[in-house]
Amino acid sequence: MTTIVWFRRDLRLADNPALFEAARRGPVVPLFILEDDEDDPHRLGGASRWWLHHSLAVLAKSLGGLTLIRGDPAEILPRVAAETGAGAIVWNRLYEPRAVARDTDLKSALRESGLTVESFNASLLAEPWEVETKTGGPFKVYTPFWKALSAHDIARPMPAPEKLDVVLAKSGDTLADWALLPTKPDWAAGWTDIWQPGEAGAIARFEDFIVDGLQGYATLRDRPDRENVSRLSPHLHFGEISPRQLYARIRFASGADPALARDGEKFLAELGWRDFSHHLLWHFPTLPDENWKPAFDAYPWRESAEDLAAWQQGSTGYPLVDAGMRELWQTGYMHNRVRMVAASFLVKHLRLHWKHGEAWFRDTLVDADLANNAASWQWVAGSGADAAPYFRIFNPTSQGWKFDPDGAYVRRWCPELTKLDVKDIHAPCEAAPMDLMRAGVRLGETYPAPIVDHAKARAAALAGYEAVKEAGAASRG
Ligand code: FAD
Repeated sequence: MTTIVWFRRDLRLADNPALFEAARRGPVVPLFILEDDEDDPHRLGGASRWWLHHSLAVLAKSLGGLTLIRGDPAEILPRVAAETGAGAIVWNRLYEPRAVARDTDLKSALRESGLTVESFNASLLAEPWEVETKTGGPFKVYTPFWKALSAHDIARPMPAPEKLDVVLAKSGDTLADWALLPTKPDWAAGWTDIWQPGEAGAIARFEDFIVDGLQGYATLRDRPDRENVSRLSPHLHFGEISPRQLYARIRFASGADPALARDGEKFLAELGWRDFSHHLLWHFPTLPDENWKPAFDAYPWRESAEDLAAWQQGSTGYPLVDAGMRELWQTGYMHNRVRMVAASFLVKHLRLHWKHGEAWFRDTLVDADLANNAASWQWVAGSGADAAPYFRIFNPTSQGWKFDPDGAYVRRWCPELTKLDVKDIHAPCEAAPMDLMRAGVRLGETYPAPIVDHAKARAAALAGYEAVKEAGAASRG
């Protein structure tokens, strides 16, 4: 039977259960639908569009053809089925609230029209409803979640179909029609030197990480000046590689070289945070839009377009924060440790709502992911599940000394500070005037003076927390 494979965020051939099932049945109609609904508050950001363009180009080539259509799946899927004579439609599941509601309705409508419809898990180690507490509810704390998930039977990855008989729909767009790439200005110029979107790029990056980054990951993953993280997040988001593939390969690598076991386990536990974020989003669909702990509604947020712009542009006067924000703008990525510090600075030092940060990250990250982004922002703000305690306020300067001890990361992204002595690199505002002069740094001219004073900002954030405590304690169930 001819089967439509509706690709969404599973842009790969290997370990793709929907594609595997379709290929087993007979001819395959590979289809990608661009849903670019202006009313969607979580619409694709600019960096994600760039990635999607390149990833679809690679997928089309590997499949030997891919029908691209922009619009409403409820209208497009039956039309393509009629056009190609397909009797079945298969896809891999998504977990965002809008997609869940839409897919559920669509499945019933398509089945009623006589089509066979099936969906699969391709992007999580386990489905959100498969991992439960002893009393049968969702987890709200990561550690027991990971324990339960680790005890779960994680399916082995499946191979790519041996043979594909591809059929294309008569109608369709070209990638160029979708204008996903930035033009004026082309802020992504040079990104193809840093990133290789697509399945082959994902596998190559993962293998490089196993050889060069995994050893020491457990401790060095916190160092933005080192190359000990995988940078697989955009590949995972677009489904160019699956978590099951990572799981099986890491277990194999640790088995072959026991010296890698601790680092391998830590890597898998981080991957577990990804499943946990999806678990939370699926069980608590308002996660991207509302404080998970409602008591945080009482927090006295500020509004300041000027401070928000300084943060976005990497001009706060705190080098680690600025380096991170510039890394993000220039590459579409920011190291996790620096994400935590930069996000904390926005919500605690500037007291700007986490939603401003979530929206900026959504637009600028190549790995922008509704579940991971919302859960992480709420984690940093203290309003989320298993969140960082609100009163723990990162000092961006001491975080710099701790995790970028030689200042190599700051020097890379804030070149105007390069000549500063290592003792001044994370606190130029405290450097002696002679040292600043020698390094060519003029505060307020070549590099900003701090936009807030750390001690005062900390005190104001803690005072705000009192309002939250009064509003009903910062805990939920
Ligand atoms: P590695 O350390 O190599 O980890 C491997 C994989 O594990 C990652 O690719 C990712 O899929 C997963 N992972 C690791 N840490 C986390 C985490 N804390 N939460 C969820 N998954 C994790 N991650 C996104 O994928 N998309 C986002 O939009 C996103 N927004 C974030 C916003 C904030 C404020 C913070 C603090 C974190 C955010 N993260 C997000 C989580 C994390 O920073 C990135 O997943 C990680 O930095 C990606 O780099 P990597 O692939 O080199 O990670």
